[in-house]
Amino acid sequence: MHDVVIIGAGPAGLSAAISCRELDLDVLVVDEFPKPGGRLLGQLHQEPSGEWWNGILETKKLVDRAAELDTRIECGVSVHHIEKTETGFNTHTNQGIFPSENLLIATGAAESPAPIPGWTLPGVMSIGAAQVMTNVHRVRVGNKGIVAGVNVLSAAIAIELQLAGVELHSMVLPAKNAVNKHHANPKAVMEGLVRVAHLAPSPFIRFGSKFANNPLVRDIAVKFFPKGGVKMGDMPIHVRKSMIQINGTDKVESVTLANLTTDGEVIPGSEEIVEVDFVCIAGGLYPLAELAAVIGCPFQYVEELGGHVPVHNEQMETPVDGLFVAGNITGIESSKVAKDQGTLAGISIANRKYGKNADLEFSIIEAKKQVHRTRDNASIQFHPGIREGRQRIHQTYIAQEQANN
Ligand SMILES: Cc1cc2nc3c(=O)[nH]c(=O)nc-3n(C[C@H](O)[C@H](O)[C@H](O)COP(=O)(O)OP(=O)(O)OC[C@H]3O[C@@H](n4cnc5c(N)ncnc54)[C@H](O)[C@@H]3O)c2cc1C
Repeated sequence: MHDVVIIGAGPAGLSAAISCRELDLDVLVVDEFPKPGGRLLGQLHQEPSGEWWNGILETKKLVDRAAELDTRIECGVSVHHIEKTETGFNTHTNQGIFPSENLLIATGAAESPAPIPGWTLPGVMSIGAAQVMTNVHRVRVGNKGIVAGVNVLSAAIAIELQLAGVELHSMVLPAKNAVNKHHANPKAVMEGLVRVAHLAPSPFIRFGSKFANNPLVRDIAVKFFPKGGVKMGDMPIHVRKSMIQINGTDKVESVTLANLTTDGEVIPGSEEIVEVDFVCIAGGLYPLAELAAVIGCPFQYVEELGGHVPVHNEQMETPVDGLFVAGNITGIESSKVAKDQGTLAGISIANRKYGKNADLEFSIIEAKKQVHRTRDNASIQFHPGIREGRQRIHQTYIAQEQANN
């Protein structure tokens, strides 16, 4: 029986494992990917300070530290079921069942789909798949592509693809339909662009970002959005153009774009065909939280956190005794926040294991402060109102605890 099983070897799971091992707990980390690092492996961007954030090097630091502490990390192990037992948990995997006293779920996030007619053709991929192929596997995804979906993730990854020498025609909105309603609305998308303004060397976005929290100014910015788009690297971003169709017989050959009104309606007669050989679709991210539901952990829908998240308190504890969560499963944020949440979760697990002591309680307070500092300084912020979202989920935890006592 392990003191703790950690599901997910991304920045949250690895950091939690390190803090658990530093506090002498017996830890097993499992991950279904062939190597540890999670989504951190694919990240490569320049911080506002000018420093580069290289996910492969950051992963190496975590894995090396875990190795120094003799941490057991098993990759290629996929978890499909979890059972609550009298003494803790049984984690069911393709490599057998692992019993533990405590369990940390750090499974990260998944991409939301954004359907566009023709999206089943070979050559259409999610923006995250393009990131993994380019930065992790060093595979060129195509010769000339286009991105459908204007958001923080697509902006960050489009820059990475251009750095790798991949040509991108432009970034446009996806076709409007029941699923894409929000992502196909120029005004809603403009609001999101504000959070990536610092990635864009465009005076238009930088200037607009100062005022875009004001709905009137934002609507004017949409109305007067430059016809040629605003440049991010060599690629223009358009919020008044939509990809209404992906064309091809056996693979992607072209896309049909159309101009939009400020309300996102296609302007008839504005259609144009653009030749490309791949399409990246970016529908945003949501917390990958199914495994917490399997054990009966309560959930709450919190828009600011990216969707349904397991109820938890500020020290990453859920209402299910011995079950902890950390990283993007608790809400979509950058890998630096996920890392600090993992450290905090590890200390909380040790505190439970050792029957709560003053030193660990003090470390928990310090680790919470660190999460706040990192959040305040994050260069990538996926959702506005993240702090309010966090407060709401923590209040739900407290309300449920009070109701149960
Ligand atoms: C496609 C994509 C691209 C992203 N790009 C960026 C970016 O450029 N910059 C940025 O700051 N953030 C990015 N993020 C957000 C990113 O998730 C966080 O930055 C950070 O990696 C979250 O850390 P984590 O440890 O919570 O999860 P992850 O890093 O996602 O790690 C979770 C791990 O859990 C494993 N896992 C999941 N389910 C199971 C299971 N059932 N059994 C076994 N193992 C499992 C996965 O294989 C994975 O290794 C991206 C997220 C996604 C989904």
